[in-house]
Amino acid sequence: MSLSGEVTLRSSFFVGGDWRPPVVPRPGRLIQEAATGKVLAETPMASEADVDAAVRAARHALEGAWGKTTGAERSQVMRRLADELKARAPQTAALVTRENGTPITTSLPANGYAPGVILKVYAKLAESLDQPDERQGRLATINVRREPVGVVAAITPWNYPQSLAAMKIAPALAAGCTVVLKPSPETALDSYVWADAAEAAGLPPGVLNIVPGERDAGAHLVAHPDVDKVAFTGSTAAGRAIGEVCGRLLRPVTLELGGKSAAIVTEDADLDAFLKALPEHSLANNGQTCHASTRILVARSRYTEFVDAITETVASLRIGDPLELGTQVGPLVSAAQRERVLGYIEDGRRTGARLTTGGGVPPRPGWFVEPTVFADVDNAGRIAREEIFGPVLCVLPYDDEDQAVQIANDSEYGLGGTIWSTDEDRARQLAARIRTGSIGINHYALDPLAPFGGVKASGLGRELGPEGLQPYFALKSVYTKPEAR
Ligand code: NAD
Repeated sequence: MSLSGEVTLRSSFFVGGDWRPPVVPRPGRLIQEAATGKVLAETPMASEADVDAAVRAARHALEGAWGKTTGAERSQVMRRLADELKARAPQTAALVTRENGTPITTSLPANGYAPGVILKVYAKLAESLDQPDERQGRLATINVRREPVGVVAAITPWNYPQSLAAMKIAPALAAGCTVVLKPSPETALDSYVWADAAEAAGLPPGVLNIVPGERDAGAHLVAHPDVDKVAFTGSTAAGRAIGEVCGRLLRPVTLELGGKSAAIVTEDADLDAFLKALPEHSLANNGQTCHASTRILVARSRYTEFVDAITETVASLRIGDPLELGTQVGPLVSAAQRERVLGYIEDGRRTGARLTTGGGVPPRPGWFVEPTVFADVDNAGRIAREEIFGPVLCVLPYDDEDQAVQIANDSEYGLGGTIWSTDEDRARQLAARIRTGSIGINHYALDPLAPFGGVKASGLGRELGPEGLQPYFALKSVYTKPEAR
């Protein structure tokens, strides 16, 4: 199969099971191919009226037959949806790669196959929801009903658009909710694969509605009076704004936000294992990965050895067409993102961090930045504190484990992280001391069966795992008077 990432031109939104043209005509978005800058398509951006129509359709479906389905019934349609997504996986992955530059070897699992896997995890959990939860209480016989929380606003970024959508849609459908998905404008095109798959799978109209739009559409959706829950992944700045609105409205919200995670390399670390996994744990998706370990803290006794080896490995990464299987580093998502990343590189140079490789722009069209390493970084500097979201690593030495933990935790964020040590007990003890939502020992693998999310400015709540289902329920306790004794 050729991975061309063919673009289907769309002039409508997917609302109520139909393709509906924009309610009010407004300028669309030109989506440019990240690797070439060529225009892939012009696609409409939702207005408030389009968002209103999507929420109406979602409410209608919730109050109709979908709201009365059993978990087993929902599980069946979710499995069909998973199969439809899987059948489209290679082309979906390639389309995302064209939009945002993710190397195809990453896009295939993350955008192609992960959504189907996540749907199947939650389809299985949906089946268990038909078991009544009866308890004998102190004062009553209690039936705890797990009712769907209602209409879900799912707002996603561009970096892993398909799996991040699945992390919201799958638990929402399992719980019996309906969804309005507002994808990022940069990756509007691939979002409609969900519509094609939903139609083919026979998902009832209105259960999933898709309205790509700019921030104004997202903000309108978050505050919409008929939305019951918001599930957001994106930047910490947008997450704070959304959290404030939801706080005022007392609207449940989950926020998956930014990160600046640390890799701690102990003096007994296996250098080869660290280097082999480096492109994955610290630079995945050209550095546009929220949980990437972008601050590498190395025991002073191994510092020079690691700085030299990291530099050599990063300098040898293959930059190229992200659709080619051998490419390890592709372009960033947009010209604006490239400017932002280059600004951080300039800041690093200006403030005295030692640039050991990269720092420039390869002579190619598209939004490429050379993979870059700064050594001797001060953890108080901007490049160590702020999320760069590009292929830029900071390496810092530490003197003892207490200092490593102190530096790792001296961050606004707490999302991912890794420990590199051949002593697993020691690594587990270190992992327990890091304030973060997830951490890998000698690798990092986000697993659909494990809760994922952040502490501090990295977010609120968890997605994935059985825990990721809980935010989609409204619990209702029904008390029955016990028989008179
Ligand atoms: P962004 O915050 O600019 O946008 C994300 C989405 O939110 C887009 O759909 C955007 O249109 C919408 N949006 C922006 N402001 C909004 C507002 N005020 N109200 C409603 N919607 C709004 O983020 P981005 O640049 O698209 O993505 C990159 C960011 O996402 C990074 O900070 C990254 O760390 C984060 N991210 C986090 C995770 C995680 O699971 N923690 C995963 C992936 C990406």
